[in-house]
Amino acid sequence: MQLQNTFTDQLGDLGSPVAVSPFAEPKLLLHSPETARLLGLAPEFFLQQDAADYLSGKKLWPGSQPFAQKYTGHQFGQYNPDLGDGRGVLLGDRLGTDLQRYELHLKGAGRTPYSRFGDGRAVLRSSIREFLASEAMFHLGIPTSRALSLVGSTEPVRRETTEQGAMLIRVCQSHIRFGHFEYCFYQGGQQALQRLVDFCIQQYFPDCAQAINPAQALLQQVVLRTARLIAQWQAVGFNHGVMNTDNMSILGITFDYGPYAFLDDYQPGYICNHSDHSGRYAFDEQPGVALWNLNALAHAFSPLVPAEDLRQTLGLYEAELVSSYMQLMAKKLGLDQYRETDRALIGRWLALLQSQKQDYSLSMRRLAQFSADSKATALRDHMLDTAAFDLWADEYRARLADSALAEQARVQQIEQHNPLYVLRNYLAQQAISAAEQGNTEPLTALFNVLKQPYTEQATQAAFAAPPPDWGKSMEISCSS
Ligand code: AMP
Ligand code: MG
Ligand code: MG
Repeated sequence: MQLQNTFTDQLGDLGSPVAVSPFAEPKLLLHSPETARLLGLAPEFFLQQDAADYLSGKKLWPGSQPFAQKYTGHQFGQYNPDLGDGRGVLLGDRLGTDLQRYELHLKGAGRTPYSRFGDGRAVLRSSIREFLASEAMFHLGIPTSRALSLVGSTEPVRRETTEQGAMLIRVCQSHIRFGHFEYCFYQGGQQALQRLVDFCIQQYFPDCAQAINPAQALLQQVVLRTARLIAQWQAVGFNHGVMNTDNMSILGITFDYGPYAFLDDYQPGYICNHSDHSGRYAFDEQPGVALWNLNALAHAFSPLVPAEDLRQTLGLYEAELVSSYMQLMAKKLGLDQYRETDRALIGRWLALLQSQKQDYSLSMRRLAQFSADSKATALRDHMLDTAAFDLWADEYRARLADSALAEQARVQQIEQHNPLYVLRNYLAQQAISAAEQGNTEPLTALFNVLKQPYTEQATQAAFAAPPPDWGKSMEISCSS
C-alpha cells in the first residue's frame, strides 16, 4: 500500500517528523474488513506473515513519513498550550475507494516531542474500546473516525495497574482538531492560521472557497456539522466523556474515544468519565459544551472573521441542533413527520423513561411493538408506574392515529432508527477481559453483532440484553 503525506507536505511546521517505537512481538488481534476495503487494502494482506509489522509501525508502507501533529486546546475549560500527538503518529494518507483521501494514524506508537510525562503507549483495554466504538458508530450511521486494526503485544504498560500495550490504526479524512486552530491563533501567528484555513478549505470544504469570506464559510460548516453530530449523539444516547477542544474534529465527526458510554438507563445527567467531578461533560451537557467549544474555535478565527460575523455564525448552532434532534426523535418514535407539537410528546416520553428508570435503547426499540389497539404490554410491563405510562400512551396513540404512516411502515421506521445492539460498557468489558486472557473470540463476536445494529440476529439475543447490575455501575478509567 503506497502512502502519501499530504498534511505534512503542506503544513509541516504544525508538528514534527518522528520515529515509531515498535513492539518486539506485535500480534494482530482484530481488523475491520470494511475499513480495509475503504482503503483499497486487499483481504489477503491480513493473512501475510508481516501484517502485524505494518499495522504496528515495525515496517513502514512505501511513502510513509511518520509525523506527530502539534495542537493545543481547552481541557475542562482551561487552555493547555502543551498538547499534541503524544502517543500517536500520522503514517500518511491515501485515496480511498470512495475517492476521498484518508489518513492513517497509529495510536500507541511510542513517545513523541509532545508526550510530556506520558509513555507514548496505549493499553489493550482502551484500544479495544476505541476500535469497537468507532466501528459501531459507523454502522449506526453516525459520522466518526474508523478503526483499521488492533495489534496486541507482550509489552507491559504501567497505568493504575500493569496492563498490556496495544496499537490501533485510526482512519479518517482528517485529524485536524479545533485545537489546531487554537495553536495557530495563540502561538503560531496569523500566517499559520491562514494556511491552516486554506488547507481545510482546499482539502475538505472546497465550496467555501467561493464565499465572500471563505474563513467564515468554513467556520459555518463546522458549526452546522457539529450541531448535527451532537443531535445524533443525543438521539442515540452516546456520552463522549472528554469533549475538550483537542478532541473535537474540524469535520464534525466523533473523535478520540476515551471513557465514553452508550446510555443504559435513561439518565440525562449521566457522567461516564469518572475524572469529571463537576459533570462538565455529562450526557445532557453535550449540546452546551459543543457550543462552548465552537466559541473557542470562533475566537481562534477572530483575526480572519469580524466579531459580528462570528456571533452570527455561532448563532446558527442552536436551531440546527434542535431541528436535527427533533427530526431524529420523530423518526425514532415512528412519526410520519416532525411537527412543532411533537416536541412535548417527545419530552414527556423521555421524562417517563427517566422517572421509570427505563433502558434507553431497549425502550425506544419496544415502541415498535406499540399498535393502536394493543396495550403495548412489552413496553408497559417494564414500567414501575403503569398509570403514568398509560397517560403518555394515550397521547402517543392519538398522534399515531393522526399519522400518514401505515402500521407496517411505522414499525419498519422504528426498527431502522432504534438500534437493538449498542456497545454497552458491560459488553465491551466482557470482550476486554477475555482478550486480556488471550481469547479474542468474544471481541470478534461483539464486533460482528455491532455491524448490524438495527437487524435482529436470531442467535445473538444475549447482546441485546440490558446490563446486569454490575454492568450498570462500571467505573471506566480515564487513563488509557
Ligand atoms: P486525550 O485525553 O486522549 O485527549 O489526550 C490528551 C493529551 O495527552 C494528548 O496531547 C495526548 O497525546 C496526550 N497523551 C495521552 N496519553 C498519553 C500517553 N500515554 N503518552 C503520551 N501522551 C499522552
Ligand atoms: Mg485527545
Ligand atoms: Mg484519547
